[in-house]
Amino acid sequence: MLRLKDPDLLRQQAYINGQWVDADSGVTRPVSNPATGEQIGVVPLMGAAETRRAIEAANAAWPAWRKKSARERALILRKWNDLILENTDDLALLMTSEQGKSLTESRGEVAYGASFIEWFGEEAKRVAGETVASPWQDKRVLVTKEPIGVCAAITPWNFPIAMITRKAGPALAAGCPMVLKPAEATPYCALALAVLAERAGVPAGVFSVLTGSSKEIGGEMTSNPVVRKVSFTGSTEVGRLLMAQSAPTIKKLSLELGGNAPFIVFDDADLDAAVEGAIASKYRNSGQTCVCANRIYVQDGVYDAFADKLVAAVEKLKVGNGVEEGVTQGPLIDDKAVKKVEQHIADALAKGGRLLLGGKRHALGHSFFQPTVLADVNDSMLLAHEETFGPVAPLFRFRTDEEAVALANATEFGLASYFYSRDVGRIWRVAEGLESGMVGVNTGLISTEVAPFGGVKQSGLGREGSRHGIEDYLVIKYICLAGI
Ligand code: ADP
Repeated sequence: MLRLKDPDLLRQQAYINGQWVDADSGVTRPVSNPATGEQIGVVPLMGAAETRRAIEAANAAWPAWRKKSARERALILRKWNDLILENTDDLALLMTSEQGKSLTESRGEVAYGASFIEWFGEEAKRVAGETVASPWQDKRVLVTKEPIGVCAAITPWNFPIAMITRKAGPALAAGCPMVLKPAEATPYCALALAVLAERAGVPAGVFSVLTGSSKEIGGEMTSNPVVRKVSFTGSTEVGRLLMAQSAPTIKKLSLELGGNAPFIVFDDADLDAAVEGAIASKYRNSGQTCVCANRIYVQDGVYDAFADKLVAAVEKLKVGNGVEEGVTQGPLIDDKAVKKVEQHIADALAKGGRLLLGGKRHALGHSFFQPTVLADVNDSMLLAHEETFGPVAPLFRFRTDEEAVALANATEFGLASYFYSRDVGRIWRVAEGLESGMVGVNTGLISTEVAPFGGVKQSGLGREGSRHGIEDYLVIKYICLAGI
């Protein structure tokens, strides 16, 4: 058992309508630690029936929740934020145990996750409509914003807290209840958030967490007409499926899907800064984020110098169990993830890629993998077209700015992109030329609750964070007021 300061934060039941419950069938599923293979505990294996009950409870809780003033909701969210921060040690330990990232990264994510609750609580008070100059003498044109209604969320395992709070934060702030299905690998962070939501005074039914079958729970969430909005973070493949399943009931969708982020190093870049940015962007969470640099394009003249510096920096990364002091690289989430990384490396090597560092499973076993750097990577390789989602930095060579932008855009994805340059004209041209929802210029870290996170092309729909994030949970009502 995990040694938490507050053992009550580790729950092995789901949270529906303010109650801690088991699956109707009584069946559970184990949750294990990817660094040790040890079982942490179990969670209920729920399906469509439990999901329906959670949705009905959310619908029943909605009128009272939306009726609260924005400030009342904001005060509850403030309390939730404070409780999350007060329990940072326990939440970080839960996260590292079920997900694998280092404790330092977990602690960072707890703070990042809480920031969405705080931010959207504040934004709740700033939701504003408009009045429009009327074309009629006797009528007035008013535009109001209302909560969309019951929301469903499906979240991934790579950020077990932040991917939840950036959906639940704006939903609850806007006056919507939310039913959540966290990823199978990381249910305990989600359930701990529910414990803290309950303590913060979030009413029964306003935030429910279901664990279990993604197919069944996702199926009910997308087909149930009571659900007015689905918010999903995960693969483009599953996003497509959820979009199709939501079509018959015309749900509003927020989809934060796959990326294939280019990271371009121009010949005028500060190479040390570019290496630092590449390490942060590529190896954070062992390469398992949707905004991780997936393709590193380096201009001809600085290619070798950049490669040498990058290898030297990657050699300093420390692989191990995330709870150990000094570890920067935890295990990958599971063996399937390792196999994908191995496939991408083998494919690259077969097509002329050159291994500069790593390339193999780590001696620690389980799903640990060596931080890897590959040179002479080109467009014919799988690495160029698919998200690797692992600690592999593939170095592509390019000559002109136009070539770099064209290569960067040659993907159906458009989430994040990064580049390093000190020339202001080039910076502006390239930033405008990149087809992505987010661009990091001279930085490898761009995420913050105050900025709009989201993609273009097949990377998704909608924005999370910033003042735009709450709009995804609101609908517009036009009121034509006559008889004046
Ligand atoms: P990842 O590669 O991050 O695991 P997935 O898209 O497979 O991305 O998973 C993200 C989330 O989507 C997880 O919570 C997972 O359980 C859920 N999911 C996977 N398949 C389905 C499905 N058919 N219906 C609903 N949710 C699903």
